Amino acid sequence: DTQISASLKAGHLREGLEPSPGAEPAVAAETVEDKVLVCARCHSLRHYGHVKHPDAERLLPDFDFVAAVGPRLASPSGARSLVLLLVDAADFDGSFPRAVARLVAAAGEAHHKDWKHGAPANLPRALLVVTKLDLLPTPSLSPDDVHAWAHARARAGAGADLRLAGVHLVSAARGWGVRDLLDHVRELTGARGNVWAVGARNVGKSTLLNAIARCSGVAGRPTLTEAPVPGTTLDVIKVDGVLGAQGKLFDTPGLLHGHQLTSRLTSEEMKLVQVRKEMRPRTYRIKTGQSIHIGGLVRLDVEDLTVGSIYVTVWASPLVPLHMGKTENAETMIKEHFGLQLQPPIGQERVKELGKWVRKQFKVSGSSWDTNSKDIAIAGLGWFGIGLKGEAVLGLWTYDGVDVLSRISLV
Ligand code: GDP
Repeated sequence: DTQISASLKAGHLREGLEPSPGAEPAVAAETVEDKVLVCARCHSLRHYGHVKHPDAERLLPDFDFVAAVGPRLASPSGARSLVLLLVDAADFDGSFPRAVARLVAAAGEAHHKDWKHGAPANLPRALLVVTKLDLLPTPSLSPDDVHAWAHARARAGAGADLRLAGVHLVSAARGWGVRDLLDHVRELTGARGNVWAVGARNVGKSTLLNAIARCSGVAGRPTLTEAPVPGTTLDVIKVDGVLGAQGKLFDTPGLLHGHQLTSRLTSEEMKLVQVRKEMRPRTYRIKTGQSIHIGGLVRLDVEDLTVGSIYVTVWASPLVPLHMGKTENAETMIKEHFGLQLQPPIGQERVKELGKWVRKQFKVSGSSWDTNSKDIAIAGLGWFGIGLKGEAVLGLWTYDGVDVLSRISLV
């Protein structure tokens, strides 16, 4: 800062670069001793904890992992490539990096025919890393079940024969599973491996890589930016020291998933939607002709039932209000309450900006009241757990382009 303002005062900057009176310099500098130039966005993140433009995260361009890293995965030098596919436990299907998983699966398929004595040394391998495990209601879940569930969901998400070298359930916030993951990465890559960490924005990649770096004893290096706003890594970054002298660990920019509801929210709205603590269930018993709203973001209608009622459990951020009522009042809810009592969106004018309100139908059947039969997951938000004895026809309303799917229940 000192250097820049001194330059400005002394008129050292070219005329065209000189800011108008009162305007902030386009570039902010770290202390002179560090001699590191930091862009205004990073400066703002580091010193104020947010970027100045509240919507900057939504407006950032996406990173094309397949084009940028794909050709480097099958290294001719024989160095092992390992891709860490990071997935958020609280938004598994929404955050799953499909295109990258397909790339890894396709590389395996292409080589499969030629395997005579096991996989070729330069075939890229992948580990599935489920982050933020502490957000799930872990006391009521068996790790083996979550493990098997995650493996099955990853295969479904890749839509191909994805061969995983392993599945890791981790929480960087609690330090769960970080050491095991690091040991496995070292074992798989040997001394000269290239490891690529990839995941959707906000999946917890920076937090995990910092935890891995700490675990490997890397000290005194600048840590990666962990921030309450997603997408804080803008280019591929090499994380030194973690994998020994020759191994390379690369952090890649967070992927922008347009099908995640969060990708179209403002930072204020994101604060309401992001889950920060262990998720708590909110359960309703509902009948045909009734609906549940999650804020002004999603509505589930019970359209038809072969039984009297069903149990619907909402797994989403506790900061998003829920509303149960008659489906016949749904239009009034949109006009009068979306953006006001039912937030996000924050403000009625944001309702239209989020897109067209569309319906997808699901037929669900189950044989017990005690356990959920199916989940209906909404990318970037959470899921409904459906418990029923019989059959149900459900209508799920949300904004066009947001991914909604039914899956085997997690909890
Ligand atoms: P990135 O965009 O993928 O690099 O994600 P960050 O590492 O910046 O994390 C995004 C948000 O998730 C931040 O608010 C983190 O504090 C939070 N987060 C990251 N890891 C964990 C975790 O293990 N548990 C919980 N509860 N939150 C986490």
